[in-house]
Amino acid sequence: MGHRVTLIPGDGTGPELTEASRRVLEATGVELVWDVCQAGVDVMEEAGTPLPQETLDSVKQNGVALKGPITTPIGTGFRSVNVALRHELGLYACLRPCKTYPGVRTRYENVDIVVVRENTEDLYAGIEYEAGSENAAEVIGMLNELQPKKIAAGSGISIKSMSAEASEQIIRFAFEHARANNRREVAGVTKANIMKFTDGLFLHVFRSVSRDYPDIASREVLVDALCMQLVQRPEEFDVLVLPNLYGDIVSDLTAGLVGGLGVAPGANIGVNAAVFEATHGSAPRYKGLNKVNPTAMILSGKLMLEHLGEREAAERLERAVSAVIAEGSRVTYDLKPSRDDPTAVGTSEYADAIIETLGEDT
Ligand code: NAD
Repeated sequence: MGHRVTLIPGDGTGPELTEASRRVLEATGVELVWDVCQAGVDVMEEAGTPLPQETLDSVKQNGVALKGPITTPIGTGFRSVNVALRHELGLYACLRPCKTYPGVRTRYENVDIVVVRENTEDLYAGIEYEAGSENAAEVIGMLNELQPKKIAAGSGISIKSMSAEASEQIIRFAFEHARANNRREVAGVTKANIMKFTDGLFLHVFRSVSRDYPDIASREVLVDALCMQLVQRPEEFDVLVLPNLYGDIVSDLTAGLVGGLGVAPGANIGVNAAVFEATHGSAPRYKGLNKVNPTAMILSGKLMLEHLGEREAAERLERAVSAVIAEGSRVTYDLKPSRDDPTAVGTSEYADAIIETLGEDT
């Protein structure tokens, strides 16, 4: 009996990227039984929603999904499918490994960082009061009574709230990930010197949880200092655990360190389900052109294999991807020295090159 996985092709370039990834994952020899389910703008009209209930039910039942990017429709009243999936499935941890592969054009070498981002709280909880609204005026009035420092009338307000429970959950996740993957250090990233009751709480929990993992080093870093140090000496960092907003920003920074969106995989993980997907969006202008780079999606599949306990296959897959990129002849346009290089191959032919290389690695 193989692993049952929900496959969500998504929209835009999603279907071609997931098809390439599906073929590559099957070529590892791991038996995968795909439950193909739709979501995104292409099913919106027919299903009346971009996230049909049967898709959600399938991920809940299988506990694992490989998902292509999905466009967030603007001005339709539908919220982001990506956000809805994370919310409905309780995917509290966002995992983004950022690693340099020889052959990918970057300014840095030897970067191997895993960003662990809290996915549910912080300024992203969605509690906001519009400047000039009645509710904003009421909140400002209430706060101005509680403290000597006054908020200017007519301000917009966004609430930052963080709990010890959610902080502990994500910090434990980071340490467990470090332990399971032979990582040496976890850095807790905050701005606790300024935001004492939110970031300060996160740091307090970080200190306490780190004592349960004496085999893993821990370090405390302020997010502003982290940004400078990442640009100067990224090879010195290992696993980073961050509250939601800093995690969002820093994971884009680290993706930039290793070559950008085309090579940045990701996963959103909860207690009962995990969704594996690239960091990038649906790149709609390339839809159907067999052009964009499936590496981020394929490496998200590699994370999925690890999650399924198929570590040996995951390692073989990473070796094959790395070898094809390093060899450099059968890669997509964005991995070539110039973007209009006529020798660039398409999404599907790049996947073929990885499949051939997998076949040679016995
Ligand atoms: P995008 O990631 O789709 O594109 C940004 C740039 O990167 C574009 O120039 C694009 O062509 C390029 N690019 C992206 N993926 C690439 C790949 N695999 N290979 C080569 N080049 C690649 O970001 P966007 O244009 O801001 O977003 C498009 C849509 O995707 C939006 O509706 C957005 O909401 C959605 N989105 C979805 C997800 C997700 O499904 N998880 C994530 C981010 C954005």
